[in-house]
Amino acid sequence: MSGSNTVNGAGFGAAREIPVFQPYIGVDTLKAITDALDVGWLGMGAGTKQFEDEIAAFLGLKERHVVATNTGTSALHLALLVAGVGPGDEVITPSFNFVADHQAITAVGAEPVLCDIRESDLGIDCASAEALITPRTKAILPLHYAGIPCDLSGVYALAERHGLRVIEDATHAFGTVVDGAPIGSRGDIVCFSFDPVKVITSIDGGALVVPSAEEAARAQQMRLLGIDKDTTERYKNQRAWDYDVVSQGFRYHLTNMNAAVGRSQLQRVPEFIANRQSYCRLYNMLLSGTEGIVTPSTDFGGISPFIYFVRVVEDCRQELIAHLRARGVATGIHWNPVHRTSFYQGCRRGDLSVTERVGGQVLTLPLHSYMRTETVERIAVEVRRFIVIRENAQPFGAAA
Ligand SMILES: *Cc1c(COP(=O)(O)O)cnc(C)c1O
Repeated sequence: MSGSNTVNGAGFGAAREIPVFQPYIGVDTLKAITDALDVGWLGMGAGTKQFEDEIAAFLGLKERHVVATNTGTSALHLALLVAGVGPGDEVITPSFNFVADHQAITAVGAEPVLCDIRESDLGIDCASAEALITPRTKAILPLHYAGIPCDLSGVYALAERHGLRVIEDATHAFGTVVDGAPIGSRGDIVCFSFDPVKVITSIDGGALVVPSAEEAARAQQMRLLGIDKDTTERYKNQRAWDYDVVSQGFRYHLTNMNAAVGRSQLQRVPEFIANRQSYCRLYNMLLSGTEGIVTPSTDFGGISPFIYFVRVVEDCRQELIAHLRARGVATGIHWNPVHRTSFYQGCRRGDLSVTERVGGQVLTLPLHSYMRTETVERIAVEVRRFIVIRENAQPFGAAA
């Protein structure tokens, strides 16, 4: 994934390539960084606690707790440990998911078991997941792909039937609201990411929301090398020197500097979300009905869109990528399914026919928190032009 602005190599005066991602860094973010530097306490501290409190307020949490981490991946790792997942256990997750999730599962010594997704929202297919449950299944790890909520009622009903923990990968869905409730405000454990390209960034960062104070304390302890009282002291920009070490732990804390960036972004998140929704709706309007292109089947109401993707259904994705690149439009692929990677190809899995098909079709188009309407229009025009050129080249609908 590239979040950088790359210059189109066509020589002097060439237009800048439109990047897939363009993190917002404004004067407010810069001021937050210099202010945090002035405090002089660079590591985890009071700013980290403030960021956690502000996330909790934004999500409207009651009786649920936020623990900030240095990445979304470490939030997932801690979530699995807090849920008691360990060696010999199985965790069911889609193959159509970012490999960070599978890495977190294998990091605790458990085995990822790969289920399929459903066509409508590219989220977990609960029937496919349920068919994979064994006595070793400990948890289910669904993803809200692109910020679009997955079948949450199906997931929690399944978990209840089989006594499983649920860890929601909400790294794409910070700010998505389902039936009036922000994702993270209910359910079991929910993980977010604030990496460089996510809807809000703390440069790198993440958070988990857990349903009890006891689990929050365990996550805090593992976040800082298993040290018992460091969190309380650091939240006051101080250190505990007479500490005990009470468990295995990691260096997964979020620093004051990163928290400062995250807090400044949080101020803007309603605007980021509203803008991104409007660009996604415009893309949908301009691209729907284009032969060979399937747009997301949502009006983006309540959704905090992380990426805008289409499905290229006629086996010409590579040609479209090249067409767009030649016209200064970068694209991405989220993702090649994980069961096709060397390390995870041996995972137990069910029928993955939707994953196989969709994995070969998805294409991510540029989506930023601030874009010109004309930029979205230009990209959509280029996608449509590609289809017209291709149809003219194959006037009798010849198979690709
Ligand atoms: C970004 C992402 C993660 C990991 O978050 P990081 O902060 O990059 O470690 C996990 N899962 C998915 C689906 C993601 O997109």
